[in-house]
Amino acid sequence: MELASTVYTIDQLHKAEIDWSLPQVALAGRSNVGKSSCLNCLGNRKNLARTSATPGKTQSVNFFRIRFPGEDAAFHLVDLPGYGYARRSKSERDKWAALMEAYLSGARRPRTVVILVDGRHPPQQLDVDLVDYCRAAGLDWLLVCTKADKCSQKDKTARLHEWREVAPDMLLQDRTGPLFFSSVTRQGRDALWRKLREAAGV
Ligand code: GDP
Repeated sequence: MELASTVYTIDQLHKAEIDWSLPQVALAGRSNVGKSSCLNCLGNRKNLARTSATPGKTQSVNFFRIRFPGEDAAFHLVDLPGYGYARRSKSERDKWAALMEAYLSGARRPRTVVILVDGRHPPQQLDVDLVDYCRAAGLDWLLVCTKADKCSQKDKTARLHEWREVAPDMLLQDRTGPLFFSSVTRQGRDALWRKLREAAGV
């Protein structure tokens, strides 16, 4: 898999250098959910995605151009800034909301939003809000439960039931239900690549 990355700020998103003809799949999640670790695991790199502690990350969107060896088809995996970071100021949160709004409801929006949630915890309001937003905006979405290495079978069953409860349409979006992923054991890595490709339609 070939991978080239470019970081854009919100003001640069309209710039022509992005190949908008490629399908986009966005990755979203609360700060600390394990999104950077997930991207690094997917890309087999240590520092592909910066961690949420990086200043200014609130405003940047990282486009990873993905292409598989021997194939022409490519897509953009789009790393969205994490949300729900407790120590963020109101103005930073407002910027995040503006960025999400501009990107997710714009003409060049992603096909699918992959929402990363912590597999150890029941659905959090901000995650449910994002699902609601995607649904209202007509965007496809799917869930990935992170930190699977720390989840018992009981946790996994509980998550499935809880998410079915708060988002009964979940299985319409994704017939297999939430995927459990761990960047520590790499459990779910191949399955996640398959889901990403399927979501991108390549
Ligand atoms: P981000 O803020 O969503 O980008 O989260 P990071 O990738 O920076 O991870 C946040 C914290 O969770 C770090 O301490 C990681 O080491 C830890 N973490 C991330 N993924 C996993 C995982 O799959 N399993 C475990 N046990 N910890 C993880």
